[in-house]
Amino acid sequence: MIDRNLWLKEKYQNRLNGDWPCPTCGKGTLVPNPKQLLVAESAQTFKERQEEFFEPWLSLMRFSIVLRCSNSICGETVISTGILDYFLDYEFDDASYQMVEVHPRIFKPIFFHPQLQIFHIPENCPEDINKQINIAFSNFFHDQSASANSIRTALEILMNEQGVRKQFISRKGKKETYKLHQRIEFFGKSNPELSPFLMAAKWIGNAGSHIGQLTREDLLDGFELLQHAIEELYVKPNRLKELKSKSQAIIKRKKPISTKKKNP
Ligand SMILES: [Zn+2]
Repeated sequence: MIDRNLWLKEKYQNRLNGDWPCPTCGKGTLVPNPKQLLVAESAQTFKERQEEFFEPWLSLMRFSIVLRCSNSICGETVISTGILDYFLDYEFDDASYQMVEVHPRIFKPIFFHPQLQIFHIPENCPEDINKQINIAFSNFFHDQSASANSIRTALEILMNEQGVRKQFISRKGKKETYKLHQRIEFFGKSNPELSPFLMAAKWIGNAGSHIGQLTREDLLDGFELLQHAIEELYVKPNRLKELKSKSQAIIKRKKPISTKKKNP
């Protein structure tokens, strides 16, 4: 299952410490480097700064920052960009013995390059499905609709990969395409356990076409359903095949595979 705490938080106080896994090695976590932080004032803040009403905590800034993988063997770098906001708070000042105004900063990340891997895509996953999932990952933070559309496209490709029929000849003799809904139903005839998961993922994908109806939480549901289908269709069968040939070899030898013949 996906660790939701990593993906649902939208604001980070003072430091962009999301503990996101490295997209390259998957072992390290991404650590922001404050020396590689670039902050630029928005035009609106630049104008308002001249006004009397201006307060520092009303500033709207843009940022970009480099995050580096904590796994020293990997050392991958990821760049994040987004909005830097401030808010108004008060702190006790030891020197003046008074409460003073402070303006802690809030990072709101919008993009990551390369895109973060919200779940690990297995090596056996077909390339075109892998590609769509990565597009869904790259849109996850800033465009939930676009992300959901890619989930839907991944399902269409999954149906193609599974050899589910796509076209039919209409009564008028025209070549027509089955809807994804129907194709998942066809698929369900030979995969009754898996098809409800794909149907649910399809409804999340469909919601992508209706602006403003999707949350990050919905997308995570879609990813989990897709992840499960990929595991079942492309990981489990290969694992079973490997274990089967291994166990057959052990049974035939009546001893572990690595056991060497005794030297004469
Ligand atoms: Zn790494």
